[in-house]
Amino acid sequence: RILELLLAPYDRERQGGVLVVIHDVTEQHKTEEMRREFVANVSHELRTPLTNIRSYAETLVDNAGDLPPEMEKRFLGVILNESDRMTHIVQDLLTLSRFDSGHSELKLAPFSFSEAVRDVYNANLMEAQRHNHTVRLQTEPDIPQIVGDRERIVQVMMNVVSNAIKYTPDGGKIHISAGRMGDRVWMEVADNGIGIPAADRPRIFERFYRVDKARSRESGGTGLGLSIAKEIVDRHHGLISLVDRPGPGLTVRIELLVEGPSHETH
Ligand code: ADP
Repeated sequence: RILELLLAPYDRERQGGVLVVIHDVTEQHKTEEMRREFVANVSHELRTPLTNIRSYAETLVDNAGDLPPEMEKRFLGVILNESDRMTHIVQDLLTLSRFDSGHSELKLAPFSFSEAVRDVYNANLMEAQRHNHTVRLQTEPDIPQIVGDRERIVQVMMNVVSNAIKYTPDGGKIHISAGRMGDRVWMEVADNGIGIPAADRPRIFERFYRVDKARSRESGGTGLGLSIAKEIVDRHHGLISLVDRPGPGLTVRIELLVEGPSHETH
């Protein structure tokens, strides 16, 4: 623990003495440490694409007219990709900062959970096919409507499903299932991909945490997706977690309250 000690002369009715105030500042230090780490991460993540953009642009300028057209095109492609990546990072950061500052209200309304799951499945089919993945969808028949911010919840589901596609080698299997359990609905996304080593599992909902930075970058990842997902699910008083399951790959589970966050009793 980190303690802050404050000493002050104490002179009540001239008896003299010293006043000692002990403050436990462990939490403050942790928050401050996390903030510093976050700023360092942001700077690093933005600097990498900027450096790439600069060096490719510089090469194009220095060799204007001398480079073979296909090389020019490839360099311009890198510049476009890197600026797209920066846009994604900035968008994700804005989303997080709106959450942090409390400026992002949830738009709560009833909607069909199973329809949302189906929409997410459909939206990802093309990308999954591009990687030769087999995607199976299995939903229980009696899933009720739930109260929540549909757009945000779909964002969470999209993130988890697109991760399953990204982190599974071509020709993999992805299983999306959903159902009801008491006052909750759940969705699970299971893949047979590269999985996450036990040591990294507790950390993957942290901002910028990535098991393999190079791989994540290559596939357009920012390392912010799951932390945003967790933020959204937390605000709904739901749960997002990794399921302990033997075998290769990863299973992510999302649970949400049927009645929505405002009706939570505990
Ligand atoms: P990213 O933008 O890097 O995909 P996320 O926050 O969505 O960031 O995920 C954090 C990290 O968790 C990823 O970089 C990856 O290392 C790991 N991860 C997420 N989903 C999976 C999965 N289905 N299989 C293996 N690793 C995964």
